[in-house]
Amino acid sequence: MMKINYGGEKVLVRVDFNVPLNGAYEITDDTRIRAALPTIQHLLDADAAVILMSHLGRPLKKKLENGEINVEKFTLNHIVEHLSSLLDRQVAFASDLIGPDARAKAEQLKGGQVLLLENTRFEPGEEKGSDELAKELSSLASYYVNDAFGTAHRAHASTAKVAQFFDADKKSFGLLMEKEITNANKVKENPTSPYTAIVGGAKVSDKILLLENLLSKCDNILIGGGMAYTFFKALGGEIGNSLVEIDKLDLAKEILEKAEQNNTKIYLPVDSTIADAFSNDANIQQANSDAIPAGWMGLDIGSAAIGEFSQVIESSKTVMWNGPMGVFEMPNFAQGSIAIAQAMAKATESGAFTMVGGGDSVSAVNQAGLADSVSFVSTGGGAMLEFLEGKELPGIKAIQD
Ligand code: AMP
Repeated sequence: MMKINYGGEKVLVRVDFNVPLNGAYEITDDTRIRAALPTIQHLLDADAAVILMSHLGRPLKKKLENGEINVEKFTLNHIVEHLSSLLDRQVAFASDLIGPDARAKAEQLKGGQVLLLENTRFEPGEEKGSDELAKELSSLASYYVNDAFGTAHRAHASTAKVAQFFDADKKSFGLLMEKEITNANKVKENPTSPYTAIVGGAKVSDKILLLENLLSKCDNILIGGGMAYTFFKALGGEIGNSLVEIDKLDLAKEILEKAEQNNTKIYLPVDSTIADAFSNDANIQQANSDAIPAGWMGLDIGSAAIGEFSQVIESSKTVMWNGPMGVFEMPNFAQGSIAIAQAMAKATESGAFTMVGGGDSVSAVNQAGLADSVSFVSTGGGAMLEFLEGKELPGIKAIQD
């Protein structure tokens, strides 16, 4: 991030304040707001007049019956009070994004002051990536900072398009975004060997691009979660009622073949915790993952798989985890994911670089209370997945262009 004195000049900052709210519009988890504070503080310390913008929810998808935007539900005004207390100064709020209120308040803003604009997604041009909207936004400030890594995979007006209206020396990443990119690059570019990726989650189809990208980079890939059963089915195993994508059997075989050609070792979970219903109260037993009886389904990796996976992780120098090993939302099927988090913590202690890079595995590592025991936990979600798939993210490219 630029180290300059802004001398009261205006800096337009795209943050991710897309936080969960309860029925009374109170913030139930302020992680994303806190994550943006270092960048905001850095700018305030450098005498910038900080203009913040963010989206909140999907207001255009959830309009009122009369076709109007549900301002009461989606206004960023819900954030103002909490943000003011976190920053220890009153944050001003504009009731529009590029309208008269935003313009007037931005105009008057002084160094050391903060203005929050209304939800970027109230403007139809935002998600369409409108150049016009981007230009209007850019006219509010002299500098642009993007600190919203979580939306960097979207070519929206406020996340990408706006950057084209600032010269290279007038735009930069924020501290949070810099941290995400630096850490993700540690696994993406020249990871220290042995490099092990753990890929889980519900579906193979969601993780195909990730797996293909990892095949050329990893020494080991550990596959868990619902997606593992499509592999067992493809290999001729009996998987009972486990999750399966029948149209992805050939693809699963192809991935296994490609791994062999690349000298990448794929580990499937040899055993599973199986249940006779998709419920935490179901009957449970252990079974080999390719011999699951009819009427039963694999909902977590089993104890032998936990042992094998942990050993591979603990002897790795670089570890990346995306996707839970089981239905970790139900305590009876969370053991596999907790064990992965524990093994990653041990690998970290032995000097490995370990990163949790995906929405649900982030919840799993938090649930295990081990978020501080791994090298990096990404807040990126879908953006991190696309980054690790090897895609160029519009929000990153726009700053670098
Ligand atoms: P993803 O968003 O692809 O990371 O998938 C996460 C979801 O996969 C979680 O909600 C898990 O409950 C689910 N999941 C993981 N393992 C299984 C499984 N064996 N059977 C069904 N769902 C699973």
